[in-house]
Amino acid sequence: MDGLNMDYQLNVPAILRRGEQLFGDKEIVTRLPDRAWHRYTYADFAPRAKRLAAALRNELGLGDGDRVATLCWNHFQHLEAYIGVPTGGMVTHTLNLRLHADDLTYIATHAGDRVLIADKVLWPLCESFVGGCGFEHLVAVGEGPTPEGAIEYEDLLASAEPTDLPEREIDERSAAAMCFTSGTTGLPKGAVYSHRAIAVHSLASAMAGVLSVTEKDTVLPVVPMFHANAWGFPFTCTLVGAKQVFPGPFLDPESLLEAFEQERVTVTAGVPTIWMGILGELDANPDKHDVSSIRCMIVGGSAAPQAMIEAFEKRHGLRITHAWGMTETCPLGSVSDPTSRELALSEEEQYRYRAKQGIPAPFFEIRARGAEGLVPWDGGSMGELEVRGVWVSSAYHDAPESADRWTDDGWFKTGDVVTIEPHGYIEIQDRAKDLVKSGGEWISSVALENALMGHPAVAEAAVIAVPDAKWQERPLAVVVLKPGASSTADELREHLAPHFAKWWLPDRVEFVEEIPKTAVGKFRKTALREQFAAQPAETV
Ligand code: AMP
Repeated sequence: MDGLNMDYQLNVPAILRRGEQLFGDKEIVTRLPDRAWHRYTYADFAPRAKRLAAALRNELGLGDGDRVATLCWNHFQHLEAYIGVPTGGMVTHTLNLRLHADDLTYIATHAGDRVLIADKVLWPLCESFVGGCGFEHLVAVGEGPTPEGAIEYEDLLASAEPTDLPEREIDERSAAAMCFTSGTTGLPKGAVYSHRAIAVHSLASAMAGVLSVTEKDTVLPVVPMFHANAWGFPFTCTLVGAKQVFPGPFLDPESLLEAFEQERVTVTAGVPTIWMGILGELDANPDKHDVSSIRCMIVGGSAAPQAMIEAFEKRHGLRITHAWGMTETCPLGSVSDPTSRELALSEEEQYRYRAKQGIPAPFFEIRARGAEGLVPWDGGSMGELEVRGVWVSSAYHDAPESADRWTDDGWFKTGDVVTIEPHGYIEIQDRAKDLVKSGGEWISSVALENALMGHPAVAEAAVIAVPDAKWQERPLAVVVLKPGASSTADELREHLAPHFAKWWLPDRVEFVEEIPKTAVGKFRKTALREQFAAQPAETV
């Protein structure tokens, strides 16, 4: 039919235009590696983001769709890359600085990254993997001497004018960003985000009842910009004109609490491990920190324990909002912000709901599938959560072998086992994927098992997640030795050490006679989890 609305492109440049035109005087504040504070405004930020885009194209020869990797903490230059790179038609690819060098090599190569923008304070990590990748240029960010062979970030920006970027409309269905997840079995997989996905995700996140972010907020994302887009806050905040505060490399409770107080932060977000640390500090020194400006602490990445939610609220008057999401969902999926239905319940019941994963955001649909097909929304039937929506991945980047992560009718299989209540409240009950999530980052059980079974004394090894007060989960290895062979936990850890990041190494190794198996010969990990979850670590 004619007479339709404009075909306005929902893209990152439109997010930048709004931030620049309407909120030029709003601040963006960063804690630098030397602990000093850097402050500037959206009016300063926007031309720099455009300079970066123009310089990448004109000076470094990049074109539409080319990948620009970042290896950075949360700071203003990373924000410039987040917004500037896609504004120039290229794709920001955030590299997770907690990964092992071999994984980074694989990821950067698989993504076809052409340029790497990296923090000077991360240069040793950078040098450990760039040799195996196809980067044409390394760009160094931050104070101090320029590393050999690298381009100085400020020099790159100075080489272009914001006006060098040609006026044109970027197709909302083109790629703007990408991020690899290790939250799958096998090799890491790349999720690619379109401009449209990011734009609609930002709008939905900002809504009341979702993450409720407005221009009046001061937002400090503790959640890293190198993992799941810092939950979209850099885009959402720029769209709504919120003041942004970046913690740089300082994620310890003292530094964060100081930043909250100094900048009068209203909204902050991170994984439970971060909040457990902050809770410990607030409990130990209740009168030391002024946290009165905070109206919402968003917790996600792993389940927020009910006891933690209650402790923050009852002891410190701090409100927690629990959210669930995935790298493959941009990442926001659902939020547990009580609706009028839950608010009518008893206080105890309300806390129970707040510890669930909540209801889906708009334009994001859910269902759950058990062995017999889709399960009813009755709060008791369990099934694997399947999702679809504007910002859900429809495939992984260049990984046709993973097509089975999507159903025949195009829903994404999350690997989370849930119950859904009649009114749509999701509660995660288990995980179908064979992984450990420690402090918000994934550890592959299968990779550790394979490496352990490569040790000459090991006949069989199963790695399971066991609950941990600080990290939520830690890996525990259950090992059967070959007849007559002997080994120790330390020896096995030494065997693993060269191949994995240090925090992947199992804290506990249990030597057993036999590992329980299913009828088809797979390790019965549920039985192992029951057996070892509650036992104290006595073997290390
Ligand atoms: P990632 O892609 O690394 O962000 O990991 C996504 C996965 O983290 C989900 O599939 C869940 O297994 C887990 N996860 C994220 N948020 C929560 C939450 N609020 N509660 C429980 N698990 C969560």
